[in-house]
Amino acid sequence: MSYLKEKILKDGVVINDSVLKVDSFLNHQIDPIVLREISNEFLNYFKEKEITKVMTIEASGIAPAILVASELNVPMLFAKKTEPSTLQNEKQFATDIHSYTKNITSRVIVSEEYLSADDKVLIIDDFLANGEAALGLIDLVRQGGGEVVGVGICVEKSFQPGRQKIIDAGVDVFSICRIASLENNTVHFVEE
Ligand code: 5GP
Repeated sequence: MSYLKEKILKDGVVINDSVLKVDSFLNHQIDPIVLREISNEFLNYFKEKEITKVMTIEASGIAPAILVASELNVPMLFAKKTEPSTLQNEKQFATDIHSYTKNITSRVIVSEEYLSADDKVLIIDDFLANGEAALGLIDLVRQGGGEVVGVGICVEKSFQPGRQKIIDAGVDVFSICRIASLENNTVHFVEE
């Protein structure tokens, strides 16, 4: 069993039938062993894809994305949920993303300067639920004319429709661990 799965079983907190809290090792405090394992799994799966950029959305995706980008020696780009004054005079790609956990829709942006038609982008995020974050990021890459080579997810909740939506968008999804159910306060993984 992967260390991430062990940590989920030992330290993950089931908030309700659809939300898992992983603040002690991934979302707030970060366990470096979990992070290194995540990075290695993504690299193994996507290494042949000639990736030019790793992309995520702030904030929880940044830690795993930066480690993968560092190993690949390519830049990591994160979409921003607010517009800093430094970006106000720059051309931007923008899309709306509804946050599953916060239940708000944010306009997320990246500067046009950092996405181009030559890019082959690996998208990384911590969780996959309804696929809003991943689909928004795919939209931003495609606005720039680039190619999304895949979506790498740390924790997929397979009882929600995100995976299918990404596949329907024509993009490969690789998830390090897949949760079949959070019912009865218990984490059940998809059988492999
Ligand atoms: P989606 O965009 O796929 O609907 O939801 C994914 C985003 O929502 C992730 O970026 C993650 O931050 C957050 N998220 C969704 N479900 C969970 C969950 O069960 N636990 C935590 N900690 N975050 C979640």
